[in-house]
Amino acid sequence: MQTIGHFINGSVVNDNARTQDVFNPSTGKPSKKVALAAKSTVEEAITAAQAAYPEWRNTPPIKRARIMYRFKALLESNAEKICQMIGDEHGKIAHDAMGELQRGIENVEYACGAPELLKGEHSRNVGPNIDSWSEFQPLGVVAGITPFNFPAMVPLWMYPIALVCGNCFILKPSERDPSSTLFIVELLKEAGLPDGVMNLVNGDKEAVDTLLEDERVKAVSFVGSTPIAEYIYRTASANGKRCQALGGAKNHAIVMPDADIDNAVAQLLGAAFGSSGERCMALSVAVAVGDETADALVAKMQAGMASLKVGASSDSSNDFGPVITKQHQQKVIGYIDSAEQDGATVVVDGRSPTVEGYEEGFFVGGTLIDHVKPDMVSYKEEIFGPVLQVVRVKTMEEAMTLINEHEYGNGTCIFTRDGEAARYFSDNILVGMVGINIPLPVPVAYHSFGGWKRSLFGDLAAYGPDGVRFYTKRKTITQRWPSAGVREGIQFSMPTMN
Ligand code: NAD
Repeated sequence: MQTIGHFINGSVVNDNARTQDVFNPSTGKPSKKVALAAKSTVEEAITAAQAAYPEWRNTPPIKRARIMYRFKALLESNAEKICQMIGDEHGKIAHDAMGELQRGIENVEYACGAPELLKGEHSRNVGPNIDSWSEFQPLGVVAGITPFNFPAMVPLWMYPIALVCGNCFILKPSERDPSSTLFIVELLKEAGLPDGVMNLVNGDKEAVDTLLEDERVKAVSFVGSTPIAEYIYRTASANGKRCQALGGAKNHAIVMPDADIDNAVAQLLGAAFGSSGERCMALSVAVAVGDETADALVAKMQAGMASLKVGASSDSSNDFGPVITKQHQQKVIGYIDSAEQDGATVVVDGRSPTVEGYEEGFFVGGTLIDHVKPDMVSYKEEIFGPVLQVVRVKTMEEAMTLINEHEYGNGTCIFTRDGEAARYFSDNILVGMVGINIPLPVPVAYHSFGGWKRSLFGDLAAYGPDGVRFYTKRKTITQRWPSAGVREGIQFSMPTMN
């Protein structure tokens, strides 16, 4: 069985350390193994990155950008192969994998603007014969740790922008679906990236802890679940590193009495069940304002869900595929059980779907649960599966309080025809990414991505303008070239322009 290795100093290597099985979630069978890097292997990657840094730091941004242009072309010409790898290990259907890859490529396009993004700020004559400017210098060796649910896109949120800013990078992707991530990183070499600038180590806690502890690593970007995000943020910060750690979510959609219910249902179907609900922006709670709205919503959702197709990633006519592992399948089913035990109504039950020919696959069918209450465990925690819960409230204020009091604040959405309500909602909701009749308000690559509350630890969001700030440090230079013969006197008071 093939073992997926690491990419260090321009070559794929295998340190013959521990390994772990990689499954095809559609068949439920192991298909490959992944190497789990030992501490010494991660240190080797850091050493390679540090050695490549001085030259890369001084490479003109336009030259770094040209590599990204070639990288983008390679991603496009290899798209089908990449999506196949994603499908085989993540379980995503090809149309969904293609969407993921495209959103990743858009971050490469943004990084192509490096010369513009790094121009800095200049002020002439801040004093007599004095000019001042701020420039944005790279940090050095930086690391990224990424989750299983977007093996192509989330790493692409990080390293294209970090690299064009002049940093060298170590990526530690998810050990559950490593093939596409490694293949994409190898394309960077083909695009002309010098060896050592980009490195990838597969692994688990041992690899992550090495990155968090090694003082040569100056910054860490993390995307994953909230308990790990918090651990990463605390440890990296305690070790003096800059850190951004994006965590989990519970994304609510408010359905107002005036909403176009058919449209809301169509949007909710895609946003709740697409990618089996394994998106940090998946809508997992519909908050219906008024019983009439709730009854109509539940009836129409139930009707719409009758034609949902869950099945193997290899069949593009499916709407969504399996969840990532057997354990995760059991966890999602456990949440449905607990909602039922707590008194909620399971309207559409996806606990035992039949997928002919794939009986061992990790499937959960689309599930709709009504009469969910805020004190239920299944409401409080992130399920990360194809489960939509309906909470009934009487007013919009009540709906907003529910969202504002939830520990997560990643994404949210309101379905309404009332501009005033929508404006009030977007102004006052304590969530980082807000949709108005848009179910998955994932910011485009030239904005930045980040939740509030326990969905993001750190000050800067991912990619876009915040990405440039995260991967650079500001230096401000103030310069005087006095005219010949002009001497400044001694001045003991604080210099001013008065
Ligand atoms: P995870 O937290 O289990 O793993 C993420 C990364 O952390 C992986 O690389 C993993 O190897 C590493 N890791 C896991 N346990 C660790 C430990 N004890 N110590 C050190 N490192 C550890 O997350 P996942 O299951 O791969 O991904 C799903 C989660 O990611 C969901 O909670 C989802 O909401 C979240 N997510 C958030 C965003 C966002 O932008 N906020 C985006 C995508 C996914």
